[in-house]
Amino acid sequence: MKEPVTILGAGCTGPLLAVLLAKRGHRVRIYERRPDARRVQLAAGRSINLALAARGLAGLERAGLLDAVRPLLVPMRGRRLHDLDGSTRFLPYGQRPHEQLYSVGRAPLNHVLTDAAEAHGVELLFEHACRDADFARGLIRVEDLRQGAVRELRLADAPVFGADGAGSALRGAMVRAGLGSAREERLAHDYKELNIPAGADGRWRMDPHALHIWPRGGYMLIALPNTDGSFTATLFLAAEGPAPSFASLEAGGPAAVRELFAREFPDALALMPNLEIEWAANPAGHMATLYAAPWQVDGRALLVGDAAHAIVPFHGQGMNCAFEDCRVIDDLLEAGCDWGRCFARFDALRRDDCAAIARMAIENYVEMRDTVRDPRFALAKELSLELERRHPERFIPRYSMVMFHAEIPYAEAERRGVAQAAILERLTRDARTPDAVDWAQAARLVDESLPRLRAHATGT
Ligand SMILES: Cc1cc2nc3c(=O)[nH]c(=O)nc-3n(C[C@H](O)[C@H](O)[C@H](O)COP(=O)(O)OP(=O)(O)OC[C@H]3O[C@@H](n4cnc5c(N)ncnc54)[C@H](O)[C@@H]3O)c2cc1C
Repeated sequence: MKEPVTILGAGCTGPLLAVLLAKRGHRVRIYERRPDARRVQLAAGRSINLALAARGLAGLERAGLLDAVRPLLVPMRGRRLHDLDGSTRFLPYGQRPHEQLYSVGRAPLNHVLTDAAEAHGVELLFEHACRDADFARGLIRVEDLRQGAVRELRLADAPVFGADGAGSALRGAMVRAGLGSAREERLAHDYKELNIPAGADGRWRMDPHALHIWPRGGYMLIALPNTDGSFTATLFLAAEGPAPSFASLEAGGPAAVRELFAREFPDALALMPNLEIEWAANPAGHMATLYAAPWQVDGRALLVGDAAHAIVPFHGQGMNCAFEDCRVIDDLLEAGCDWGRCFARFDALRRDDCAAIARMAIENYVEMRDTVRDPRFALAKELSLELERRHPERFIPRYSMVMFHAEIPYAEAERRGVAQAAILERLTRDARTPDAVDWAQAARLVDESLPRLRAHATGT
């Protein structure tokens, strides 16, 4: 019997893609290295929750899974900034009711996606790892980790999708075969996840409808709400170098960790009864941007999601972008492309967009940990929203374009963002409050430098 379409990896991307392909009538089989995540708990410290935004929602909607995912979501309407003295400020993300992000647990989301794949007849083989591919002979090798047996799959029958994450084995095989190149640029900062448990009444002990940030210049703590009343907090900090860094905290032991939290995040520390225990138990994770090309081998193999274009997490877009990949593949198949054309078109279509979000994600780290503290940042945000109100057909804040406008490609959001930043720079040069802004000048600048968005992009 012919091999089905193979997907490597049942993380975020694999099961969603599987559902979309199954709905098109393909036989699909997923090989996943880990045990079934519905039966075992995920290892601690690996982004327990994620921010889901418009592009991710659009992918889920395409697969008909939005209703199943909805109960897992906690809306976050803006950023809540925590100052050293414990006072907080709220900066809304957008200005329309739907302009909010959703915090979603990685594990429950994965369960819904995996269940949906199974319900659509997708065969899931856990504890099976892709080991290698031999493109000359048209084979990929998958090892059954429980029995040690290696199975060879024929690529001539049906293609393989590498949804096997940032360390993709399929990508590795492509590179070894001289069919592509890949380079990882590691960030000098690592992250560690910690828990803020629910109160005795089972409820959240901070505003649940915000992404909390403790920006400290050069590093930051953030926290996203979970449905069970807890928050997952993540510390982003230099890996090496002078204090504070993960290396200095390692050297200083638990006392140094407590001292940092007591000095910089006292209100968060008050909500973290198990800081030292969790600090010791949860590993620090690395972050990197992946530059790989090409993503496909002539209609036989295609890398998707993090396997193709892993990015740093500061715009909350890695999974969202991966779900957009799935939607683009579905669009290409809908348009009648065969695998060869679909894969080539995917590579051509997605390249600029994924490069743009990779750059914007890095920029957003600086914004979150540093710029957000600057009073001019709050003014620029306020002006952006006002300019959007006055010129909705031309001006949409870059953050909103990325997070709330799935119909605006990332690359276009980045291009328009450059022009918008120049306008905001001009307007905030002299003005310290929105009232002091010359709105006639603003209108001229907007008209001159921002072409009208296509009608659909304004939500009309
Ligand atoms: C700290 C942090 C916070 C983040 N926050 C956000 C956020 O808020 N919003 C957002 O959109 N994104 C976020 N991301 C990014 C997001 O996690 C990834 O973009 C997303 O998980 C990519 O999905 P994927 O399926 O491509 O890869 P993964 O989710 O990594 O899944 C890959 C799967 O492949 C399996 N696998 C690996 N190797 C093999 C093999 N050889 N054979 C078979 N299976 C294999 C793995 O076990 C895994 O299940 C964050 C990432 C981090 C690190």
